Amino acid sequence: MTARLIDGKAAALDIRRRVAEVVAAFRTRTGRSPGLATILVGEDPASAVYVRSKGKATGEAGMEGFSHQLTESTSEAQLLDLVERLNADDQVDGILVQLPLPKHIDTDRVIAAIDPAKDVDGFHPVNAGRLATGLDALIPCTPFGCLHLLKQELGSIAGKDAVVIGRSNIVGKPMAMLLIGESATVTIAHSKTRDLPDVVRRADIVIAAVGRPEMVRGDWIKPGAVVIDVGINRVPAAEDGKTRLVGDVAFDEAAKVASAITPVPGGVGPLTIAMLLRNTVVAAHRRSGLADPQAL
Ligand code: NDP
Repeated sequence: MTARLIDGKAAALDIRRRVAEVVAAFRTRTGRSPGLATILVGEDPASAVYVRSKGKATGEAGMEGFSHQLTESTSEAQLLDLVERLNADDQVDGILVQLPLPKHIDTDRVIAAIDPAKDVDGFHPVNAGRLATGLDALIPCTPFGCLHLLKQELGSIAGKDAVVIGRSNIVGKPMAMLLIGESATVTIAHSKTRDLPDVVRRADIVIAAVGRPEMVRGDWIKPGAVVIDVGINRVPAAEDGKTRLVGDVAFDEAAKVASAITPVPGGVGPLTIAMLLRNTVVAAHRRSGLADPQAL
C-alpha cells in the first residue's frame, strides 16, 4: 500500500470534542442544551443500531436526546402527527427520521413535513435548494463529512477534477453541490454513465457512493488521486461464514495507486454522526437567534 490512510475516526473525534465545547457554551448562554429527536419506525436491525449510536453520541456531546420508537404498523398520519409535535416543541432543535421507512409511508412527504430549521439531516427540499443556491443550509451529514476529510487532506480543492459516483439525494447530489461550492470541476456518474472506468481515471478526487461492493477497481484510479469511499456493504467473509463490511472501492488495489484513501469501516462512517451533532448545535444557535459557532 502506498496511499495514506485517511483516519475518519480521529477526524470525527476532533469534531465531536469541538461540538461538546460549543454545546457547553450554548448552555451557559441560553440555560438549556440543544435537543435532538430521533424517530425510528419498525424493527430493522441496522437502523436500530444507527439510531442507538446517534442517541449515545448526542448524550456524550452534552445534548438532550429524545428517542421515539414506533412500531412497523405506524400509519403515515401518526408519523406526520409526531413530526408536527416535534416541530412545535421548543426543546427540540433537530429532528431525524431514520430511513428507510416502511413501504406504506411516503418518505418524501415525511421529510417535507419537518421544519427546515430542524432538518439536521439536510434532506428537506428547502435545505437542498439552499445548498444548491449557495445559501446557508443544513447540509446532509455524509457528504459534509466527505468534504471535511477532503479539505483536511488537500487544503484547497479549487480547480481539481472530481468524480462523484452516485446521484442520490442523500449522498451523490449534495456531494456534487459541496464540491462545486469549493470550485472543483465536478462530474456526476451513475448507472447510465458510459465508460465509467475512463470517467473515473480523469479524476483527482473520487467519491464512490454506489452501494456495490468493491465495484471501483484499482486500475480505474489515476495515480495520486484521493479516494473517498462512502459505500457500506455487508458481504460474506471467505473463511468463517460470517459477514464483513466492504466499501464500493476495491481497497487493496486502489491503495496501491491513490495518494490517500478512506478505509471501510473507519473512514466516512464516523464523520456522519459527527456532522449530525454539528448540524444539531448549529440549528440550535440559528433557532435561538445566535450567530453560527466559529469553532465548527
Ligand atoms: P442509492 O442506492 O440511493 O444510490 C446509488 C447510486 O449509485 C445511484 O445514483 C445509482 O445510479 C448509482 N449506481 C448504481 N449502480 C451503479 C453502477 N453500476 N455504476 C454507476 N453507478 C451506479 O445509495 P445511497 O446514495 O443512499 O448510498 C450509497 C452507498 O453509500 C451505500 O453503500 C450506502 O450504504 C452508503 N452510505 C453510507 C453512509 C455513511 O455514513 N458512510 C451514509 C449513507 C449511505 P442511478 O441513479 O442511475 O440508479
